[in-house]
Amino acid sequence: MRSFPIGARLTAWYFGILAVVLSLFSLTAYFAMRNSIYRTVDEELRARMEGVRRLIERTVRYEPDDLRRELREHSELAGNTLLQVADRQGNWLYRSASTDRYEIPRPREASGVPSTLVLNNVPLRVLSTEIQVGDQSYFTQAAAPLDDFYSALHRFVTLLVISIPILLLSAAAGGYWMSRRALAPVDQITQTARSISVQNLSSRLIVPRTGDELQRLSETLNSMLERLEAAFKKIIQFTADASHELRTPVAVMRTRTELSLRKPRSADEYRQTIAQVHSELEKTSDLVERLMLLARADYGVGALQLSTADLGEIVREVCSQGKMLSEAKEIDFREEIPSQPVWVKADAHALRRLFLILIDNAIKYTPKGGRVDVVVGQENGCAIGEVRDTGIGIAPEDLPNVFERFYRADKARSRESGGVGLGLSIGRWIAEAHSGTIEAQSSLGGGSIFKLRLPLVNGESPDLSSAN
Ligand code: ADP
Repeated sequence: MRSFPIGARLTAWYFGILAVVLSLFSLTAYFAMRNSIYRTVDEELRARMEGVRRLIERTVRYEPDDLRRELREHSELAGNTLLQVADRQGNWLYRSASTDRYEIPRPREASGVPSTLVLNNVPLRVLSTEIQVGDQSYFTQAAAPLDDFYSALHRFVTLLVISIPILLLSAAAGGYWMSRRALAPVDQITQTARSISVQNLSSRLIVPRTGDELQRLSETLNSMLERLEAAFKKIIQFTADASHELRTPVAVMRTRTELSLRKPRSADEYRQTIAQVHSELEKTSDLVERLMLLARADYGVGALQLSTADLGEIVREVCSQGKMLSEAKEIDFREEIPSQPVWVKADAHALRRLFLILIDNAIKYTPKGGRVDVVVGQENGCAIGEVRDTGIGIAPEDLPNVFERFYRADKARSRESGGVGLGLSIGRWIAEAHSGTIEAQSSLGGGSIFKLRLPLVNGESPDLSSAN
């Protein structure tokens, strides 16, 4: 059943249910009609029997011939009905003319309950009663042929037998046509969906304006296609950017080595080339490592191991590295970390990496003589980690994009300082993996502030709002 199309399955169900309903209806109608016939005939027989009883009561003191004559008149007046009356000894006092034709047998006892007999191929409804008048009792039988009723019943059954299959077949055909019509848009959706592939991901399904499930289905599929297209574009962009970034250092290394191999060189010259290639290799391996981290993050592997940790402690460790970097560049580096712990659920290694990215950027984009501040604290029930600098800042049009992969506000300068535009996108992923947020405030020439917000671990952290 499962392999049949929905239209055929719906029709089969429809056909089955209708067949059961019609059969039940026909059976009920047949028995109701039959019962009604019996009830009418039985009432008729009882009324006739009552008439006979009254007649006997009235005539019993006369001669039997008088009784016979009265009975005949009564029977003829009632339309020559089937009536036979016997005395206690079993002698027939009266038998209407048509009674002989059927030879209705005398039952052993007069039950007073009508029963159905088939005599000479004619169905008869027979009522047998004993009428007691004084010390005399009369065995009386009244009967009515049922053949006319039966043939009406038979005509009704024939009508049902002929009309039910016709009704069922036309209802099933109508049902099938309606289900085909209702499901036609589904076929259309299927065909369009089948034609959509990587090459034409921007195609969309036609949305029927019917306001029903099909419209909702098409709209849902279209929005799914939109998300897929956006994700796919991101992947293509990421792959293109990644190959572009990898091509530059490889080209540099190739040119350097080719130049060096063109003629014999001194040991110093070779050492210099190897040092240059080594520096490019370091950048390349750092790039490959960042790419792999982002790819694994996208794929959902390499999930972080979160445990309760002191944010201050984590940042303090990174600051010692930051101090060394800033000293080399003559930048004033200050940290403002409270002595009381600021408890957060953290992967310490990942958070260290995030702060290293922020501090490294702050030093990278701050000129000699500038200042970098690292602050840890609490704000509105969140743990806060801030890296502020007095550096070159970010233009307002670049600010919304700095967390995008491979985005560099000032491409030439950033590449010179070793950046490929992946640091902040890794940073944002780390923040989000900690259920936190990261935001940037900056203006060109006015320095930058990068602010990380993490959920505090409830009740374990002291009030450090004064730290802000
Ligand atoms: P990169 O590796 O190039 O530094 P990031 O993702 O870390 O890449 O940063 C993206 C861009 O944002 C950088 O290229 C730079 O232009 C800008 N940027 C990041 N941090 C700062 C900062 N502290 N000051 C000025 N510009 C910054």
